[in-house]
Amino acid sequence: MSEDFDGPPGAKRSKPGGNASNVGAGLALAREIQTAWQTPAPALVNLAFQPFLEGLHRLGLELTEQQSKQFLRYQLELLDWNTRVNLTSITNPEEVMIKHFLDSLSLLMAFDAPEARLLDIGTGAGFPGLPLKIVRPQWQLLLLEATGKKVAFLQHLIETLQLKDVVAVNGRAEDLAHKAEYRGSFDVATARAVTSLPALLEYAAPFCRLGGLLIFPKKGDLTEELARGKRAASQVGARFKADTAVTLTGLDDGRRLLVWEQMNRCPEQYPRSGGVMAKKPLG
Ligand code: SAH
Repeated sequence: MSEDFDGPPGAKRSKPGGNASNVGAGLALAREIQTAWQTPAPALVNLAFQPFLEGLHRLGLELTEQQSKQFLRYQLELLDWNTRVNLTSITNPEEVMIKHFLDSLSLLMAFDAPEARLLDIGTGAGFPGLPLKIVRPQWQLLLLEATGKKVAFLQHLIETLQLKDVVAVNGRAEDLAHKAEYRGSFDVATARAVTSLPALLEYAAPFCRLGGLLIFPKKGDLTEELARGKRAASQVGARFKADTAVTLTGLDDGRRLLVWEQMNRCPEQYPRSGGVMAKKPLG
């Protein structure tokens, strides 16, 4: 790692620590963690990190020192940027670790492989794509996000965490899916908290290679949405494959991973424009 990455997170900022008075307890704890950053790796497991590590253990993951530092830095940058750009409603560092990082990593319960080309549609501040990239650095990742300011954050983070083979693109799924370089080319397409299952299938299936997977984290009562999703899937060449319950430290509110397999090529007409999708949803 270069000095840039190893240094304390505030070092390159013009306003170290941000606006302490306005941002509340969340950022205060984040600053405590910032101090821990400068101490040897074992100390990093204190503070907000411990419950996160327990969850990782349940997933069979053990972080290297570099990965621990990347997650801490990610958390700090997220909370810092969040005071200026609307990235997340979660401002408690411990909750960031569990509800964003661990929740993102739970996708490994549905898919894991030494190599993969992963697409994250409507990634926002990088979820679930970037936490997955940190623990699976050999994967190729495309982060797709419609809001420019969020893409600026993602690009800053990719640079700061020194991540390779990850690109953040500012655009809409319904446009990019029609470009030859992206169509049918991903092993896995995912999207968290973006839209309903029929629309997710219409967005994601065109990007997926034959035999590839579409994985959507969801929670709540899905009976009707899932039925519509199954009908939509048949229209875009996908088939329902699995419904995996996620129960990890701090994540016991009925989270599930809905998994679909791309069986046939998605017809060229999909995805339709946003307007048509809204007026005539699949399923
Ligand atoms: N996946 C993130 C963000 C969810 S908010 C998380 O779980 O935290 C939904 C995000 O999807 C927003 O940032 C929005 O800009 C983006 N989005 C919505 N529709 C989109 C589309 N058609 N193409 C690309 N991004 C989209």
